[in-house]
Amino acid sequence: MKSLLVLGSSGSIGRQTLEVVRAQPGRLSVAGLAARGSWELLAAQAQEFRPRFVALTDAEAARRLAPLLPLGTVLFSGPEAVLELCNAAAYDVAVHGIVGAAGLPASVAVLARGKDLALANKESLVLAGAELVELARTRGATILPVDSELCAIFQCLRGESLERVRAVHLTASGGPFRDADLATLEQATPAGALRHPTWSMGPRISIGSATLMNKALEVLEVHHLFGVAPENVHVWIHRQSVIHSMVEFVDGSVMAQLGPPDMRGPLHYCLFHPERAPSSLRGFQLDLFARLSFETVDPHRFPALALGYDCARRGGDSGAVLNGADEVLVEGFLAGKLRLTEIAPIAADVLAKRASPAQGVAAALRADRDARALARLRIDREERAASTP
Ligand code: MG
Repeated sequence: MKSLLVLGSSGSIGRQTLEVVRAQPGRLSVAGLAARGSWELLAAQAQEFRPRFVALTDAEAARRLAPLLPLGTVLFSGPEAVLELCNAAAYDVAVHGIVGAAGLPASVAVLARGKDLALANKESLVLAGAELVELARTRGATILPVDSELCAIFQCLRGESLERVRAVHLTASGGPFRDADLATLEQATPAGALRHPTWSMGPRISIGSATLMNKALEVLEVHHLFGVAPENVHVWIHRQSVIHSMVEFVDGSVMAQLGPPDMRGPLHYCLFHPERAPSSLRGFQLDLFARLSFETVDPHRFPALALGYDCARRGGDSGAVLNGADEVLVEGFLAGKLRLTEIAPIAADVLAKRASPAQGVAAALRADRDARALARLRIDREERAASTP
C-alpha cells in the first residue's frame, strides 16, 4: 500500500487524486490532506479517507473544521500548516496540486525529506526548476510530473537517455480562442475564457490555456525538468488533446503518449510509478483518436508563448517574474480589470523591468513578490486610465 499526501485536496487535481484512490481500494492510502479554506469539503474527505494529519492555511476555516474531524486526526492551521504537514506525516508520495508560486516551499520540503513528489504545481518548476531537480537528485527522490504534457514526455523517456533527445514536441489544445481573430480576443470575457474545449481544469490554468501562457510555462518546465534547450522545444496546436506530447530522438524516431483528455490518467501513472498498474480508465477510442491534427501557433494572436522561450534563454529569476506577473494579471482579468490581450504585453513589460540573473529559491521568491507588485501597479494604472473620461 502506497501512502499519499494530497496538497490542495479541495482543488481540481486534489479531487481527481482522491477519485484515483477511491478507484483502487486497498492499494493507496491517504496520510494527509491540505487545503486553503474549504473546511466543509476537507471534513468530508477526512471522514472518508481517515488521514492521520490535515492542514488548513486559513485559521478561521480550521477552527470550523476541528470539531468535524475523526478522533485522532491531527490538525495544522495557519500559514505554515502545509509545511508542518509535509514535515510531520509519514508518506511515500506527495501529490502537489496547490496552485501558484505559493506552492514552491512545499515542493522543497517534500524533496528535502527524500519523498517522491507528484507535481501538478507547475510554478515550482517555473520558479526554481534547476534547484528542485538538484535537490531531488541529492536526496534520492523522484519528481513525477502530473501535468499531462510533462507526464507524456516522462513516459516517452523511460529507459531512454536524455543525450539522445533531439527535440520535444509539446502539444497545446489552443484553448477556447484558437480560432478567434484578434478583435474577438480583445473582447473575450472571463466566462468565455474559462470555457476550455477539451480539459476540465482550475481557473488559472484555463485562462493560461486561452492566452497560451500555460504553454509558455510548460516550455520552461520541460527545459528545467528534462534539460532540453529552448530551441529544441516545439509547440503545436493539437485540437484533440489526445497526443499529450512527443519526444523526437537523434535517430529520427518520434515517440508519443496518447490517451483521452482525463487528468486521472497522468495521476494514476504518477501514483503507481514505477509500476504500470491496471486502471479502468479508457484508452483507444476510435471517435477520439481517428483524426489527429497539428498546427503552428500564431505568434500575433498568442504573444504569451514567446515569453516562455525568452525566460528559458534568460535563466536567472525570469521564470519567477513571468509567473508572478501572470498570476496577478489573470486575477485582474477575472475581476474585469483588464483585457485578456493585455496579459502578455504587461507581463513582457514586467519581465523587462525586473528579471535578473539571480538564481536560487530565495531569489525566485523575491522576484515573484516584486513582479506581483509591478503587475498590480500596471492594473491600477490601466484602471485609472479607463475611468478617466
Ligand atoms: Mg498541461
